[in-house]
Amino acid sequence: MTTGQASSGAQSPSSTTQTDPAALREQLTAIARSLTLEQQVRLLTGADMWSTHAEPAVGLRSMVLSDGPSGVRGQIWDERDPSLNLPSATALSASWDPELAYRYGAAAAAEAVRKGVDVVLGPTINLHRSPLGGRHFEAYSEDPLLTGEIGAAFVRGVQSAGVAACPKHYIANDFETERFTASVEVSDQALREVYLAPFERTVHDGGAWTVMSSYNAVRGVTMSENDLLRSPLCQEWGFDGVVVSDWTAVRSIAAARARQDLAMPGPDGPWGQALVAAVRAGEVPAAEIEEKVRRLLLLAVRVGALGAEPPPPPRPVIDAGFAREVEARGIVLVRNTDGLLPLRAPASIAVSGQSAGLPRTQGGGSATVLPSETISPLTGLRQALPATTVSHCLGAIVEEGIAELPLNCLTDPETGSAGLRVRIRDSAGDLVLDELRFSSALVWLGNAPVGDLATLELVTDYRPAVTGPVELGFAVIGPTVLSIDGVDVLQADNDVTGQDPASAVLSPPASTAEVDLQAGRGYRLRVLHSLAGTPRQPGALGITLGSRPATGSADALIAEAAEAAREAEVAVVVVGTNSQVESEGFDRGSLALPGRQDDLVRAVAAANPQTVVVVNSGSPVTMPWRSQVRAVLLTWFGGQEYGRALADVLTGAVEPGGRLPTSWPAEEADVPVIDVRPVDGVLRYDEGIHIGYRAWLRAGVEPAYPFGFGLGYTSFDYESLTVAVPAAAGGDGGAEVSIRLSNTGPREGREVAQVYLSRPESAHERPVRWLAGFAGVTVPAGQSATVTIALPRRAFEHWQADGWALEPGGFTVQAGPNVADLPLRAEFSPQARLPL
Ligand code: BGC
Repeated sequence: MTTGQASSGAQSPSSTTQTDPAALREQLTAIARSLTLEQQVRLLTGADMWSTHAEPAVGLRSMVLSDGPSGVRGQIWDERDPSLNLPSATALSASWDPELAYRYGAAAAAEAVRKGVDVVLGPTINLHRSPLGGRHFEAYSEDPLLTGEIGAAFVRGVQSAGVAACPKHYIANDFETERFTASVEVSDQALREVYLAPFERTVHDGGAWTVMSSYNAVRGVTMSENDLLRSPLCQEWGFDGVVVSDWTAVRSIAAARARQDLAMPGPDGPWGQALVAAVRAGEVPAAEIEEKVRRLLLLAVRVGALGAEPPPPPRPVIDAGFAREVEARGIVLVRNTDGLLPLRAPASIAVSGQSAGLPRTQGGGSATVLPSETISPLTGLRQALPATTVSHCLGAIVEEGIAELPLNCLTDPETGSAGLRVRIRDSAGDLVLDELRFSSALVWLGNAPVGDLATLELVTDYRPAVTGPVELGFAVIGPTVLSIDGVDVLQADNDVTGQDPASAVLSPPASTAEVDLQAGRGYRLRVLHSLAGTPRQPGALGITLGSRPATGSADALIAEAAEAAREAEVAVVVVGTNSQVESEGFDRGSLALPGRQDDLVRAVAAANPQTVVVVNSGSPVTMPWRSQVRAVLLTWFGGQEYGRALADVLTGAVEPGGRLPTSWPAEEADVPVIDVRPVDGVLRYDEGIHIGYRAWLRAGVEPAYPFGFGLGYTSFDYESLTVAVPAAAGGDGGAEVSIRLSNTGPREGREVAQVYLSRPESAHERPVRWLAGFAGVTVPAGQSATVTIALPRRAFEHWQADGWALEPGGFTVQAGPNVADLPLRAEFSPQARLPL
């Protein structure tokens, strides 16, 4: 068929067809068929790094896809187009609040609309199988139900605004080591009951319009070619949307025979002409291609990219206050001896830790967004407590690389305005890029100039804020020179480290030289980087001009912090991980805090009995000092309002709302499922269904803090539990649990009541117990409340060879504040209640 035939009026689905799925399907099939095979195939590979091809002949515009799970970056990685930096997924899931997750999704959608994005590449709903997982911060939980509930609510929130969500990465992509090639060996039961369950939720209850297939293989078949895309995703769960590949995960024509629809990025890739030829040769059915195109058109209808759609209605501007709210709701208080918190306006606070001034507000990798500003714990505390003297000592170094130079210390020599000048020249010496930038950490993902390039130059006049020695340098792959006032001070040719090509751009290795600088004096900094001969992905480039403290003796830093703590009424130590520990592209090597941070906490705690530790990490770390300090707050990667949210919690303006979405170990050696390293290319999930708290319970080992645990500023009593057959479910094998609890403490608080099931006498392999439902409730001081939690039939079912089954007989229902503290108990037999 020709393009001319296509424009016969079929391309603009009417409002009738949009509400009638069968008519719409027919119409989209007609549009797909009206395209030539070449036109069809062209649509199935991206047009560039972030967008799909348009097909004007049928009124299809290009659609834009963008990361990510904690904010929306847009098509460019550029501080001139900033994004709302929401707290990490672990902070959101710690709220145990699907309603908040819905609003989080809606906030992402508003950002997407503002940035012209049609598909938000999130949520990440792989599981916290091992705390060493490099993208742990980006995923929700070790539990499939909690992950699914939060994920589905996020998806509904995104899609409520006509923007597609993209649950990822399907499936068993719960680690980063050899992520492109590793094959996972996992049982059907574990897949169904654990890893697939959150995807089922986001498709079934969330109604996701797209799903991303992962890089890895399962049982030897790479996921973009794997039958798991067809079943259960589509055939069982009814997914009717587009399977988007992870970036470069389509590697073959075989993927076109599978239920893989869109190969990203483009414009090159393994499909294109090769796929046209394969269809002509009868190797791939033409009907498959047509169906893929039809589904792409359906996505276009859903996001308003097909036909002459009216412009989207204006969306509310989401302000940073929402990021602050989410973070405070996600902070988990795990220790508060003698009620040290909330702080009662102390005269002085000695703050220590590098993360207090330079926190991580998000994890590294594709999830990164560029906020217009971030609020550190130090700034947050100073703003919240203006009458308190708040001092700061570095205490210990956390970052391993360099941090970008503060914008307020940089001046562009050419215009005299804040910032730095970036110039790229070709081999003839001609300028191909000449820009004023407002960040000294620069990334181009697909949009860097290409061609015969010679050099990249960064120039700025730097006026440091403090006098003294500092490590100044750059992070980039390839030959580079740094000069200060025309004198070369550093020359290096950094090589790629690790196997992941993305890290060469997103976290290249740094080189520094120690220099002595004077506060307020201007220094002309110039970085000259050779682009010739440095192999790189086309259009991809990452370079940072930055510094790290020249610290001298680590012992002296600790002693100085301890001394300051001794003088102050309260000590707050902010400890954390760094970008070399928690980022996409690699797994963690250890759960210990980097550097001398453990020693710092011990020294401060010894100097001041009123010590609070704030942990700024996206995933569990070991805290060997935890019984020596008065209070511990787990605060995740807190988003751009991190410092304000933390101050809200420390001062009691808001109670710490979080409950652990993942068990926190006392010792790394205790963690029952930890291995993330494939052997001969294979990672075996031999623990089956027993991950997270299920594994801890089975091993009979106690973590430092169990799944579901978290304190507030009040206390709750669990009074009674009743289990009934839900009227609405008509006896389908589910149950309705009612829990009465009372707030026995001094102030209003929110409790997350959790329901677990167990079946000790089961004929099937089961977890010791498993989360079956939960609900949050806010109760005024001294009052009681009843929460009702519906447990669907699925909560009682197990997977066996021929499908889901409900084992006859009774289950134990337990309820309480966390998996290890379940004061209420009842017995329930779902099938006994089924009508005959
Ligand atoms: C990540 C995805 C991401 C994609 C696009 C990949 O490396 O695994 O999560 O959406 O890049 O940035």
